[in-house]
Amino acid sequence: MLDDMLDHLQGIRARPVWQPIPDAVRASFREPLPREGSGLDQVHEAFMDSILPFAVGNAHPGFMGWVHGGGTPVGMLAEMLAAGLNANLGGRDHIPVEVEWQVLRWVIELFGFPEDASGLFLTGSSMANLSGVLVARTRALGSGVRSTGMAKASRRLTAYTSTRAHGCIAQGMDLAGLGKDNLRAIPVDEMGRMDMACLAAAIAVDRAAGFQPFLVVGTAGTVDTGAIDDLAEIACIARREQLHFHVDGAFGALAMLCPQLAPRLRGIEQADSIAFDFHKWLQVPYDAGFFVVRDRQLHLRTFATHEGTYLSRGERGMAAGSPWPCDFGPDLSRGFRALKTWFTIKVYGTERLGGMIAHTCTLAQGLARRIESEPELELLAPVSLNIVCFRFIGADANGAIEQVNRDLVVALQESGLCAPSSTVLDGRFAIRVALFNHRSAQQDIDVLLNATLALGRSLSAMSPVPVPEASGLPQ
Ligand SMILES: *Cc1c(COP(=O)(O)O)cnc(C)c1O
Repeated sequence: MLDDMLDHLQGIRARPVWQPIPDAVRASFREPLPREGSGLDQVHEAFMDSILPFAVGNAHPGFMGWVHGGGTPVGMLAEMLAAGLNANLGGRDHIPVEVEWQVLRWVIELFGFPEDASGLFLTGSSMANLSGVLVARTRALGSGVRSTGMAKASRRLTAYTSTRAHGCIAQGMDLAGLGKDNLRAIPVDEMGRMDMACLAAAIAVDRAAGFQPFLVVGTAGTVDTGAIDDLAEIACIARREQLHFHVDGAFGALAMLCPQLAPRLRGIEQADSIAFDFHKWLQVPYDAGFFVVRDRQLHLRTFATHEGTYLSRGERGMAAGSPWPCDFGPDLSRGFRALKTWFTIKVYGTERLGGMIAHTCTLAQGLARRIESEPELELLAPVSLNIVCFRFIGADANGAIEQVNRDLVVALQESGLCAPSSTVLDGRFAIRVALFNHRSAQQDIDVLLNATLALGRSLSAMSPVPVPEASGLPQ
């Protein structure tokens, strides 16, 4: 099995990024509950035939679609060790928990947080952003809200983020019982960053209306263009207005590993909490989200429960080592996500990891320049980090640009050559190339550009050109 996976990774460029799933393969996963076991070799064969070839392809260097990491053999091997150990990191006194605290201390060092800051692994930034909303709620209302719920709150809590923020911020407001309608979407400037004057104005309007502003969420690396909010300015407004300052740094926060990029995140060290993922730019295998909080007591007051005698703590023995990870988040049973992260950071070191992050940004800048020099392509947003948004505007696409580009994204994905995704920027449909895979190289960018031009031309030749009204000419 190990050989198969190493071979798979080694020869991955020769395979399609993604391919449509044949009906027979899909049907093979509709079988009834097996009463009798099968041989391990048989099940392994089913994996090789029906699972491996039909994954989304984010390990492939041509995968440029969503914000997905590519994984590494080091992470894969660490996962094997973790699975063999089968540790439960909810709590108790064992070294796997110390490995998680080691990663926490590295995170604290990276972001310049206080030594006693707290944090833990979660599935991903969706959960970490929800946690940020919950910590902010405790700060605004005290931990009593955990017993009484929001019905006892005298005023409506309002939160602020930009129109380009990830959807999980609104979902966090929803799941925390605060309501999506109480999240204000602040407009962005031409660089895609939250407009600071609009933020201050929105807070003032809400205060005048008798609401209680409690949270501002800045984004370090927006999901559609990679824009970084002015975190230092948000920190300043948050301090003045006494709001909790949370940063969604899902992928962008780890740009801190790269000396050229770290200054762009200035202000992140003043955040009250940060959500980010090791499974994106750092290439740790799924899943490995992280949540770090400046004020450890506030974090504990948000999540710790001291109910259940079966979870009682001790000074000695296996029940020592309190507080446990389960006191800082919603999960009791927790896997050993820390191990694959610890392996990745120790084996590669931050210089090499930071260099890999910088390389994806260099590829993106090169792609942007090629797009700008190519008359049939149009760049649709400034390239801040490693995400490039553009569209095909070849002469024949006139009048059907959006449809041609929609079809183009699907055609590129179905070609198996490369896999961009799409977004909509200011009402314009964009092909979105997100370069997160450490395996992606210049040759993959060339494949993308050549395939985009070739498919764009043939698609726009096929698309009907709308007939100009009252042209008076025979068609
Ligand atoms: C990926 C992403 C998220 C969601 O994180 P998950 O790990 O997928 O839960 C949130 N915000 C941004 C900016 C992201 O890129």
